[in-house]
Amino acid sequence: MSSERLTKQKQAFRRFFEANREKELTVAEIAEMLKESGNNMGIATVYRAVKRLESEGILVKCINGATSKTRYRYASHDNSIRSVHRVFCTVCGKIVDLPYKFTDKLEKNVADLTGFALTEHQIMFYGLCPDCK
Ligand SMILES: [Zn+2]
Repeated sequence: MSSERLTKQKQAFRRFFEANREKELTVAEIAEMLKESGNNMGIATVYRAVKRLESEGILVKCINGATSKTRYRYASHDNSIRSVHRVFCTVCGKIVDLPYKFTDKLEKNVADLTGFALTEHQIMFYGLCPDCK
């Protein structure tokens, strides 16, 4: 592959992860979403790119103990608190991301209480999804 093409591909990945910075995604989900946005790349190509971005510190690996699927997220270098709120179905393993701004007050309370400068938090709700309940 020419270095120019490699650079273009890298830019496409960066744009993708910047646009999806609140999400934790599997390689398969990344490939699917890239395809939908017109960047049709094979899953092996996506996998290699993700590995490279991880080694460069642009992506961070997150391992979800509940599903044991490896997910990746954009490593944020700004000062905003990264928050992940999800509901997890204990039967089928489905995960739904929730809008992330509903715990501002919680963050402030924790920071006030502990004196910590918070950088990240994760909240997982467990239950049964509409299909399983
Ligand atoms: Zn379910």
